[in-house]
Amino acid sequence: MIIAVDGPSGAGKSTVARILAKRLAFLYIDTGSMYRALTLKALENNIPSDDKNKISELARSTKIDLRNNADGSLTVFLDGKDVSLEIRKPKITQFVSDIAKIKEVRRILVGIQRQLGLRGDCILDGRDIGTVVFPDAKIKFFIDASAQERVNRRFKELKGLGQNVSEDDVSKDLSNRDKIDSTREASPLRQAADAIYIDTTGLSIEQVVEKMSEYVKKNG
Ligand code: C5P
Repeated sequence: MIIAVDGPSGAGKSTVARILAKRLAFLYIDTGSMYRALTLKALENNIPSDDKNKISELARSTKIDLRNNADGSLTVFLDGKDVSLEIRKPKITQFVSDIAKIKEVRRILVGIQRQLGLRGDCILDGRDIGTVVFPDAKIKFFIDASAQERVNRRFKELKGLGQNVSEDDVSKDLSNRDKIDSTREASPLRQAADAIYIDTTGLSIEQVVEKMSEYVKKNG
């Protein structure tokens, strides 16, 4: 069974999707990490994020894989190398949405995501899972939260990772990515017509996971 979890940046999708996957013993596939890995490679190779041809060529010759670990964490491999921590750096976050809007990049990464989905029951989180990657997913969630709450959560998360960011930086980053992600031509961020909308503003992680879990029990 496939469970799709979509929503804007900072809504807490990855956190709840990861916990739910562990609880259900499903694989967890963080599709944003794949766009981030490709962005890292583009930066390492000094390819500008608006050079569509070079980035597309890079995507075609890159191997990205994910591994679910027993402790619930996820390891992201870029051409066989563990880049799980590196892809969370601000520089990557700054350019990832520009890379993710390139059609050919999406075609290639969506292909890998569909392959990963064949490995068994899984939960995928991203922006276009319920609309494009797995439009027939049995269960689809659209996870949202108010802009201020998303800023607060992302700020806390980055501080926890030891990053020296201000709330203002986080706010600018989120609105910039939201804008690019929802206005791009290739599979923009949209709620699928058959997705369950969850506004997580004011809810704890546990409360959100519980809501999702209940829904899966009834409809899975
Ligand atoms: O989920 P995360 O914030 O790590 O994703 C990073 C970026 O990757 C998003 O801002 C978006 O531009 C892109 N992305 C996407 N489609 C997905 C997942 C992520 O375009 N399915």
